[in-house]
Amino acid sequence: MEQYDLTDAQKKAFAENEADFRKFDDQLREVREAARVRLADSGWDPDPESEDAIRCLSCPCPDFQAGGPQGKCKRGSCRHFLIDHDLPI
Ligand SMILES: [Zn+2]
Ligand SMILES: [Zn+2]
Repeated sequence: MEQYDLTDAQKKAFAENEADFRKFDDQLREVREAARVRLADSGWDPDPESEDAIRCLSCPCPDFQAGGPQGKCKRGSCRHFLIDHDLPI
């Protein structure tokens, strides 16, 4: 482990940042769960292309394709961020 010489204010800033990101994780999980339910309610329930396909929840994209601009889905009809997609976690 590298040692960093941090001031108390810097340590506090990092700790608060980390807490905010974890909060965002929780929110994202809730948003994703709600998105799944919304799609299921609408009757959108296609069979996955494969066992580990990561479908998009913001469009009918059946599987995330890495390599798009700014980390977005490469599929031309999608172009949503990875977080729009139905990640298993
Ligand atoms: Zn996609
Ligand atoms: Zn999409």
